[in-house]
Amino acid sequence: MTSNPSQLQDALLEISRITARFTHSDEHPDGAQSGDGAVDVNAGCRIMPLPDRLWEKAAKAAMRINPVNAPLQELRFGDTPVLEPMRLTLFVSKYWGPQPKQLSVSFMESTPSDLRSRIVSHLNAWTNTAGAGISFAETAGTGDVRISRGSGGYYSYLGTDIKFIPSNRQTMNLQGFTMSTPESEYKRVIRHEAGHTLGFPHEHMRKALVDRIDPAKAYTYFLRTQGWDQEMVDQQVLAPLGGNSIIGTEPDQDSIMCYQLPGEITFDGQPIRGGLDINATDSAFAALIYPKVLRSTMDNGQANAASSRIDWDPSEDVNV
Ligand SMILES: [Zn+2]
Repeated sequence: MTSNPSQLQDALLEISRITARFTHSDEHPDGAQSGDGAVDVNAGCRIMPLPDRLWEKAAKAAMRINPVNAPLQELRFGDTPVLEPMRLTLFVSKYWGPQPKQLSVSFMESTPSDLRSRIVSHLNAWTNTAGAGISFAETAGTGDVRISRGSGGYYSYLGTDIKFIPSNRQTMNLQGFTMSTPESEYKRVIRHEAGHTLGFPHEHMRKALVDRIDPAKAYTYFLRTQGWDQEMVDQQVLAPLGGNSIIGTEPDQDSIMCYQLPGEITFDGQPIRGGLDINATDSAFAALIYPKVLRSTMDNGQANAASSRIDWDPSEDVNV
């Protein structure tokens, strides 16, 4: 630990305020593109914010849940940006911590067993495909993660925020998912929402991607497709995530956490592609911050550069 608890608490509180600024709203601009390039509002996802009154409580709880990872400090891995190959981002104040963890899952509505299993298997793509040490398991009781397939579109609360949702309410919404839903949608949507539950925000809110968007075009586009005024577009599209509230390096428009945005709102006319499944960099980052085996260096809160560097046998070194 490099700072005292009160400083840390202040930092967490600030982070939670920053987080809330970017999540405290209704619909995010993301969504599946239909053939004509329009964003389908119904297919969009939003990160559901906690009610205002819970921000401070959530910040304190995040520190309690994750005491040794005192976000800003430990997750900086020293002063070196050692996460260079990793492009997914994490809201540090919503992080579950590096200890292997299992989140229980329940369903709000009566749901057939095959559908329950299929949904949980996609939540677990982060574990089984990406190799993260955090997993999801169905429970007959009330889960940490509670899924509804009712109205409300697609959303999840972010990371440890799910602890603050009353147990009779869902933490994740997957409107209309059935066994007939295409497998591609299970990958694109459920794996994405699971990412929010692990604490990953939207990649398209990264500064480098936001900087590609032409505000004038965005105002026109989102007024037409979503009915948003300029203030809403500023908040939802043009305000990048705060640098101190996230870790990660280069933004990745192919991340599962990035949705498609059309070329008609960018300066260069090129769309922001958006990811359709967990990609290699998503996997690498998730496995790094949620290791399957707790590294001793992280165990005592001394996560440092050495523990997070990628290394290989010297025999593999490239001679140039
Ligand atoms: Zn989302």
